[in-house]
Amino acid sequence: MPEVFAPGRVLGDRYRLDHMLARGGMATVWVAEDPLLSRQVAVKLLHPELAIDEGLRTRFRNEAIAAAKLAHPGIVATYDTGDDDGIAYIVMELVDGSNLRHLLDQHGRLHMNDALNIATQVGDALEHAHRHGLVHRDVKPANVLVQPDGRVKVTDFGIAKATGGDDLTRTGTVIGTARYLAPEQVNGEAVDGRADVYALGLVLYEMLTGRPPFGGDSDVATAVARLTSAPEPVRDLRPEVPRAVEDVVARSLARDPDYRYASAKEFRDALADAARGKASASPPSPSAPTRHVAPRPPTPPPRPRPIRDPTPPARSIPAPVARPRPARWPWVVFVIVLAAAAIAGYFIATRDESGGGGGGRSNSTLQAIPIVSATDFDPEGDNGAESP
Ligand code: ADP
Ligand code: MG
Repeated sequence: MPEVFAPGRVLGDRYRLDHMLARGGMATVWVAEDPLLSRQVAVKLLHPELAIDEGLRTRFRNEAIAAAKLAHPGIVATYDTGDDDGIAYIVMELVDGSNLRHLLDQHGRLHMNDALNIATQVGDALEHAHRHGLVHRDVKPANVLVQPDGRVKVTDFGIAKATGGDDLTRTGTVIGTARYLAPEQVNGEAVDGRADVYALGLVLYEMLTGRPPFGGDSDVATAVARLTSAPEPVRDLRPEVPRAVEDVVARSLARDPDYRYASAKEFRDALADAARGKASASPPSPSAPTRHVAPRPPTPPPRPRPIRDPTPPARSIPAPVARPRPARWPWVVFVIVLAAAAIAGYFIATRDESGGGGGGRSNSTLQAIPIVSATDFDPEGDNGAESP
């Protein structure tokens, strides 16, 4: 896609674009000079082809407003926002480092301490956001910036939602990056901070094992897989991970939010304990069973065993690929139907999120599948770049 912004362009009579750093699904991020304060900043520019959509412009503005409420060393600081001749921009602290997506693509799985350290820092940042009434809703490696000294900053509050506040999406609309959606997001249900805990569990799993816990031929299929199957236990893929850490990941990934950690703080504390070799000190959530990871089974379990066997057999390290599974044709049909519904939803979402009217739920047999729409912000997958 040709770049319409060019080095030297000045925005808001102040910020001079220098060079482009990254391209995301919503925006490009540039290094710019702020001559007034004599410093470099990062400037995020809404893609011009999206800027014609008033709903997306509002969302972009809300991103700046949401992020500006947060002052935390683990969250990218927002300095300014503006609109220059139709170009919507957000000015931020410039973070030196690499996003976690690039690190994972380069290195595969990370050193265990690095993985635990990054997850703990992201947990800290999310706890701060949640305490200030914001759910990020798009926690994923591309939105985690890792600096050379190991400090981490969370960015991209583009779809953050104020708890109890207005949401730009209608109920039933799926929003977020398909691969990192919590089950309740996939289902278009209300979300709270536990959806961020789930996404952070996915990110930690990927940092520890080098691959995401759920696979699929497409991002939508990957999102749907978490409704029907349990992830491979972390220690099957990396046996040296302490069982307590595996437990933290598994509990974060509980399908039912009631079985997860109740907050990012609980997650972070449990992870810190696990990393120190202590068993989790945090009590289970009120409705959670003592053996926490049991997912709510909305459907027959897809695998013949629970997420973690009580007495795992002695095992060698299996190849990090899905194990052959017995044929389960009803599930194949289910997934195909669901994928078709989601793809149809994608087009509905594209239209509706542009300000279209609300749509009622279908009364057809597909009603069992509560996805009304799906918006995939990264259709090209993990190719190092995001695109709308
Ligand atoms: P999008 O909403 O399009 O996903 P992001 O805000 O996630 O945009 O930014 C896209 C990419 O730009 C990020 O993945 C990250 O690599 C980089 N980036 C974002 N903000 C900053 C920043 N403040 N400093 C340095 N790099 C950044
Ligand atoms: Mg992003």
